[in-house]
Amino acid sequence: MALLRIHKYPDPALKQIAKAVDNIDGEVDAFLDSMTQTMYAAPGVGLAATQVGDSRRLMVLDTDHQHPGKHLLKLVNPRIVEAEGSILWEEGCLSVIDFTADVKRASRVLVRAWTPEQNEIEIEAADLQAVAFQHEIDHLDGKLFIDRVSRIKREFYRRKLAKMIKEGKADGQRPSHVRI
Ligand SMILES: [Zn+2]
Repeated sequence: MALLRIHKYPDPALKQIAKAVDNIDGEVDAFLDSMTQTMYAAPGVGLAATQVGDSRRLMVLDTDHQHPGKHLLKLVNPRIVEAEGSILWEEGCLSVIDFTADVKRASRVLVRAWTPEQNEIEIEAADLQAVAFQHEIDHLDGKLFIDRVSRIKREFYRRKLAKMIKEGKADGQRPSHVRI
């Protein structure tokens, strides 16, 4: 199975707002499998279709490092229906190379989504999994975690990235943290 190409900031594809899927067919299922392989290979704990240049509301998530695959979620049209609490988490992203930052998120979320088997499900998530859901659904809305940090931090990163690209160092080969 071919791995998908992960788009990197500042690629404008990352600003696309994804559209709801109204027909869950075999193609959607196969695409979610390709996304899963791409996520594990990266490696990352989550991946949104927006990150691989597809504008459908699809995401995959596996925040259980101990047992890869056991708690894998392949979701269609995920949405947060309840959120509570607050948590500060150092986030990294497969689409934002060499940068992590603390982002304030809800500490618990209730997510409603469809599975590839066409069942509607609800998932209660806390901590890293809650953070990952918010991060991925942000991707589907064309937002990156760097849009949620201070302007100064973002500007600093933009300059650092421009310099890295100029010096040919922007290879993204230095995974620094959990990336989603
Ligand atoms: Zn991300």
